[in-house]
Amino acid sequence: MNDLRDLYQQLILDHNQNPRNFGTLETATHSAKGHNPLCGDHLDLYIEIEDDAIKDVRFVGTGCAISKSSASIMTTVIKGKTIAEAKELFEKFQHMATTGEIDSDALGKLAALADVHKFPARVKCAMLAWRTLTAGLEPGSETTTTE
Ligand code: ZN
Repeated sequence: MNDLRDLYQQLILDHNQNPRNFGTLETATHSAKGHNPLCGDHLDLYIEIEDDAIKDVRFVGTGCAISKSSASIMTTVIKGKTIAEAKELFEKFQHMATTGEIDSDALGKLAALADVHKFPARVKCAMLAWRTLTAGLEPGSETTTTE
């Protein structure tokens, strides 16, 4: 279990230092801004939807290691998923982040963030990207905060 924990910490550090899908997306069809005032995390998410699937996704933002790595890992996981699948993952990720219970088949490397449930203030950091995503997938919603 300790080895797994080390692996997860390395994954978080790696995604924080080298965030994947970082930048804006000119072909974006949806976008949303997220803000976590408790920690000062900011996130802009750009999503390209085609045929009800997430064809591409990018983000820019500033914030703590948890918010940034969570956003980076999320983009790698949801790319290619349908909107329905992404919303299902959101539910599973939220359940994990608040309870620590891991549905590892569904969550894969998202399980790296399971330990945030021990730190209530960090849950908002980990959830920011996902809340921004679900806001971005709803029509007419431009800005979201985790408050
Ligand atoms: Zn944060």
